[in-house]
Amino acid sequence: MSEDRPHILLVEDELHLARGMTFNLEEEGYRVSHAETGEAALELLAFNRFALIILDVMLPGMDGFTVCREVRGADPRVPILILSARSEEGDRISGLDSGADDYLTKPFNLSEFLLRVKGMLRRSSWYRPEPVEEGYRFGDNEVFLLSYHARTAQGEIDLTELEIRMLALFFRNEGKTVTRSNLLETVWGYSSETETRTLDNFIVRLRKYFEPDSSHPVFFQTVRGVGYRFARHGAPGARCEKRAG
Ligand code: CA
Repeated sequence: MSEDRPHILLVEDELHLARGMTFNLEEEGYRVSHAETGEAALELLAFNRFALIILDVMLPGMDGFTVCREVRGADPRVPILILSARSEEGDRISGLDSGADDYLTKPFNLSEFLLRVKGMLRRSSWYRPEPVEEGYRFGDNEVFLLSYHARTAQGEIDLTELEIRMLALFFRNEGKTVTRSNLLETVWGYSSETETRTLDNFIVRLRKYFEPDSSHPVFFQTVRGVGYRFARHGAPGARCEKRAG
């Protein structure tokens, strides 16, 4: 048994579904631990490190969103994929609000599910230990890509693996428009535009972290119909007047 296989935690109370998913994930070469409840998942998380967490929302006892928040408290980086039985937008948004990186609505297609798992598991190419890291500054923010951490006007925050991927892509392309498909491919590993709202909800999250006024973004700008652009010095005419400190 090779231990370098990515170890996935699957939290799902429907046993027939959990068995099917476990079988297919193992066929793909992953190691899978299964928990039937949120409480059992948190117990496993106390003693194990996982490469990915797949989390059903509707669980007996503690619900998936609560589990998600608890997990984020303990491990801010690990990618979390939410499985939602309901297709309401409200569910999706509260999933991303609670710190998840993507969601999939049940019933889902198996190959779509496996593609997402594969995409989310790609390790960041910039993930390597470095003794001293210089932060990337913009506005009142400083982002540390290697340590998954940022200082913002609102205080210190931890960033998830996928948030780091997105920020690194924006920083590399500072001032240029990044297309939706490029973002989906680089951050989530998707080759096609499937659930595009995930991307928009993710941008909303970044704006909440980093924009002086998230309803009037100056750094993470929408390029209508194309994608998004990161402007390190803010939008022209909307430059931040206030200075840090
Ligand atoms: Ca369930």
